[in-house]
Amino acid sequence: MPHDHHDHDHPHALLPPDPALRVKALETVLTRKGLIDPQALDAIIDTYENRIGPRNGADVVVRAWTDSAFKQALLQDATAVVSKLGYYGRQGEHMVVVENTDQTHNMIVCTLCSCYPWPLLGIPPAWYKSDAYRARAVREPRKVLSDFGVSLPEDTAIRVWDSTAEIRYLVLPQRPPGTEDMSRTDLMSLVTRDSMIGTGLARSPDKAGP
Ligand code: FE
Repeated sequence: MPHDHHDHDHPHALLPPDPALRVKALETVLTRKGLIDPQALDAIIDTYENRIGPRNGADVVVRAWTDSAFKQALLQDATAVVSKLGYYGRQGEHMVVVENTDQTHNMIVCTLCSCYPWPLLGIPPAWYKSDAYRARAVREPRKVLSDFGVSLPEDTAIRVWDSTAEIRYLVLPQRPPGTEDMSRTDLMSLVTRDSMIGTGLARSPDKAGP
């Protein structure tokens, strides 16, 4: 039986030629088949927000961890200290840094809208702006923390700071144990965005390897 190969549909021709269209098509098919979760893709984007956005904040935290005079100045007048480093607020708002200790864990929220220390942390994550976070952070902070995978000792107090257009807060997370010999760069990699919002803790150093 004669077979005309001339107009044969090659499988690869079923997708649009443009790479972006192909990616979109694959994403749609894989999502419909339940093979990927669009939230997983969002998580990848979030990684960029998390790793690239808050470098300034991580810089400030590591300076505070490694220089007690800097830390004292930061806790007394964060606006002046971070301005000197070149991290300005667009509207000239005041920065307040609150320090986590064994006794007190701090968490920040903006109950009214989405005020956020953007010069230090970059783009706020979607959940920070959500109605759920804004309402629950104040009402049930310990539950919110546990949703983020953070469980604190019962006797650690949780203080929630409500940001405004005038005052933006940054949490100074506790320095994890076992980090005494780490370089600035390595220390910075432990300081996550969430640890500076107070919905996370600074990462423990990687214990894998010799
Ligand atoms: Fe706000």
